[in-house]
Amino acid sequence: NVRVRFCPSPTGNPHVGLVRTALFNWAFARHHGGTLVFRIEDTDAARDSEESYQQLLDSMRWLGFDWDEGPEVGGPHAPYRQSQRMDIYKDVAQKLLDGGYAYRCYCTAEELDERREAARAAGRPSGYDGKCRVVTPEQQAAYEAEGRPSIVRFRMPDEAITFTDLVRGELTFTPENVPDYGIVRANGAPLYTLVNPVDDALMEITHVLRGEDLLSSTPRQIALYKALIELGVAKTVPEFGHLPYVMGEGNKKLSKRDPQASLNLYRERGFLPAGLLNYLSLLGWSLSADQDLFSMEEMVAAFDIKDVNANPARFDLKKAEAINADHIRQLDVKAFAEACEPWLRAPHAPWAPEAFDQAAWEAIAPHAQTRLTVLSDITANVDFLFLEEPAEDEASWAKAMKEGSDALLRTARAKLADAEWTADAIKAAVVAAGEEHGLKLGKAQAPVRVAVTGRTVGLPLFESLEVLGRERTLARVDAALA
Ligand code: GLU
Repeated sequence: NVRVRFCPSPTGNPHVGLVRTALFNWAFARHHGGTLVFRIEDTDAARDSEESYQQLLDSMRWLGFDWDEGPEVGGPHAPYRQSQRMDIYKDVAQKLLDGGYAYRCYCTAEELDERREAARAAGRPSGYDGKCRVVTPEQQAAYEAEGRPSIVRFRMPDEAITFTDLVRGELTFTPENVPDYGIVRANGAPLYTLVNPVDDALMEITHVLRGEDLLSSTPRQIALYKALIELGVAKTVPEFGHLPYVMGEGNKKLSKRDPQASLNLYRERGFLPAGLLNYLSLLGWSLSADQDLFSMEEMVAAFDIKDVNANPARFDLKKAEAINADHIRQLDVKAFAEACEPWLRAPHAPWAPEAFDQAAWEAIAPHAQTRLTVLSDITANVDFLFLEEPAEDEASWAKAMKEGSDALLRTARAKLADAEWTADAIKAAVVAAGEEHGLKLGKAQAPVRVAVTGRTVGLPLFESLEVLGRERTLARVDAALA
């Protein structure tokens, strides 16, 4: 039975790297009919906040993820927030100390710095040198009497650690590269290095899929696991797979602080969850060489961790937008209209709530659906329908209103006043007006568009005018001529 986990720290806005990790774990669990455990790693009281926790849950729900154990759903290994599991970690740390798998380290920060410098100067490995591995009871009593603080340090085995990464194949870490490491702070607070594998063990996680940035902690965790097995706390060592780095601008690792990395940005711009997830799945995985567009059902059906590419993936906003646009087009028009709703209301919409006209919206929606890259663009695309007067965009006016525009608008107005009010007839009227002034359709429609919508670009013009209605169209042309 496959059991995987998604275990973020609630330290702020979720970022896309985190979402990619959640997605791959979710797809892996669903593909194998396994269990997805959602655990909150909130042991860093200084950085974790209740607000971030709520934001995290809200983001996961918005993305459409479901989990089998964790916050809001509970499960046999509750609680799933590490801040509520402190007794467990305390108990395991004591067992590790009692069993000799860990020891109290009394080295001060200054002493460690000094020895690290000396090792560097001598060309020796500069990690912890194991000084406190052997402390006699007398020494220990003296340290304690001195009031020296101590951390708990895990004793790494002296042989190399080899494991087969599900993405990168066989990897070996030699002891000099993995020194003994801290698992409990001097103030008694357990560290990520302890709580993460302890929970993975207790929650019987079978596969750990996470970012490559955590690869260096894997040999430590495997060693700790082996100790936990000997202590009867863990059953088996899970398998590990490390997902490739995501590179941002300038081929630098996409950092959490990079604005492009913020999930909220995509949500606020109106990415569809399906579009965003489709794009993020391509950061290290693909359905097939010639199909970039797919649903989450298709991903789940095809997902195999062995297909994940170990090479760094490049984050490409343009591609993300293109894929999102394709997902928008795939919605049925009713679903599209509903998805746009938040952007048609306050605080996004610049018009008064009562100015919104459902029938007009339903009439224009099909024309908007084929044009949008992100849903938030809908507001500017349909504001001509709901604002009293068209939006003022000076650049558009300067661009479209040239010498002769007034004359063209006057002719167009006269023809529109008599036209049957359908998109085809409206088009014929504008074409005819253009002909009278020796203008091709593109040139003739530009001043009409700006007069009526306020902008040089927008939805198909004749359909827009049809929906807007003759009276309002003519009034706007008059206003432009005044
Ligand atoms: N809480 C850790 C993080 O967000 C989890 C790392 C892991 O998957 O082991 O980085």
